[in-house]
Amino acid sequence: MSRIALFPGSFDPITIGHVDVITRSLDLFDKIIIGVGNNATKNYMFPLQDRVDWIKDSFSEYHQVEVQAYNGLTVDFCKKVHARFILRGLRTSADFEFERAIAQMNHYLERGVETVFILSSPQYAPVSSTIIRDIIRNGGNAAPFVADGVKLK
Ligand code: ADP
Repeated sequence: MSRIALFPGSFDPITIGHVDVITRSLDLFDKIIIGVGNNATKNYMFPLQDRVDWIKDSFSEYHQVEVQAYNGLTVDFCKKVHARFILRGLRTSADFEFERAIAQMNHYLERGVETVFILSSPQYAPVSSTIIRDIIRNGGNAAPFVADGVKLK
């Protein structure tokens, strides 16, 4: 049975922190599917198609990495794509508390899916899509913090 992990997130936009988590996880899994959330109640800065295309461009040379948009429950999408693992990154203790609740609830919902956490590399711990969106809104240079494929105007 192949080891498929789903890395779910908003990726609004994908950052060097996300890229770090994904590339460091490649040895753990046969395939990593980056699941780009499309939640009707969330206000994204970037359209779904841009978020997906930027990730595809960033990982075009990685045959193990796939990108798919999804909505609905993450565990339902896991079943659909046969992912037995959810991959998430941890930067801080605040991330830990937030992620703990989600991972434990996901495990109640679907026993066959385990969440695997990768600790952020120290240099990427302050990098978040939220802060990057703030930099962009205020006319700062966010380019050093986003993945290669992200095209900011
Ligand atoms: P969500 O909207 O689900 O929080 P994000 O796109 O913000 O989605 O993040 C997806 C995952 O990537 C989360 O597990 C988050 O903790 C992790 N992550 C985000 N930034 C970093 C970073 N700089 N280092 C490590 N993990 C990160």
